Amino acid sequence: MNKLKNCSECGRLYMEIGQGMCQDCFRKEQEMEQVVYSFVRDHDKCSIKEIVDGTGVKEKVVFRMLKAGRFIASGLEISYPCQGCGAPITTGKLCAKCSKNIRNQAERLKAEKNMKKVDRSTTMYNTTRNR
Ligand SMILES: [Zn+2]
Ligand SMILES: [Zn+2]
Repeated sequence: MNKLKNCSECGRLYMEIGQGMCQDCFRKEQEMEQVVYSFVRDHDKCSIKEIVDGTGVKEKVVFRMLKAGRFIASGLEISYPCQGCGAPITTGKLCAKCSKNIRNQAERLKAEKNMKKVDRSTTMYNTTRNR
């Protein structure tokens, strides 16, 4: 069932056994993970930027660990920027405020769809009035 693949890190051909990268890169990444772990243990609730600055480990690697739930599994908490507003968050992609905004937006869109006719006439009225 093994497949030859190009390593996502160094681009060399390797035998995929579920690591997503070649043996060399996997070993290197594990070493980097250890560095990140010990850093996070000493700096509780630090941000990804602090980890990158403090360890020299690539942000990509830290994100991969985060996505894999490595920190949570070890009882560690780190923060990273919300994709919406940049506020520090520890789970998911968005902070509570942004996910609420998105929910509101979706509901507003639905409402707007239903009121499309009314909405258009109001806009036209406002445009002529402003000119
Ligand atoms: Zn590699
Ligand atoms: Zn946010």
